[in-house]
Amino acid sequence: MLRKIVKYGDPILEKVCDPVTEFNTPELEQLIDDMFETMYDAKGVGLAAPQIGLLKRLTVIDPTGGEEEGHQLVFINPEIVSTEGEQVGEEGCLSIPGFRENVKRAFTVKVRAQDEKGEWFDLTSEELLSRVILHENDHLSGVLFFKHVSRLKREIILRKIRKLKRNGEWD
Ligand SMILES: [Zn+2]
Repeated sequence: MLRKIVKYGDPILEKVCDPVTEFNTPELEQLIDDMFETMYDAKGVGLAAPQIGLLKRLTVIDPTGGEEEGHQLVFINPEIVSTEGEQVGEEGCLSIPGFRENVKRAFTVKVRAQDEKGEWFDLTSEELLSRVILHENDHLSGVLFFKHVSRLKREIILRKIRKLKRNGEWD
């Protein structure tokens, strides 16, 4: 089922999410399915639970955007263990549609998380996957990608969003 993606301005996007405590349930499975469906529909490569209005530490990622099979990743209660190096690249957010900016991120990321069954796993990522993992992880702390751009660029984006809101083109 498609869920509505919450846009910037909704206070839920700036809150800290709560840990997921129940695993292996049909509800969790359904939620994960819905998140992938919603993410693919919006042509995204990552989606965090607060983006569909749920304050849960859960993200889904597919760096191919569904173009190739077998790249679906689910991170529940993720923790960034370590980061290394850096990369600069264009980033956008399904909750801030229409805006992209260059963002500096770590190149290599080690992450620990639980899967749908509550099993902990470790994963080391590079390049684009690192960028997506860090972006989605930020959402769980209420942090949006434009926190990582210059204040001037952020102000320009916020001004344009305010204008879209006034015109009723942002909800
Ligand atoms: Zn985002």
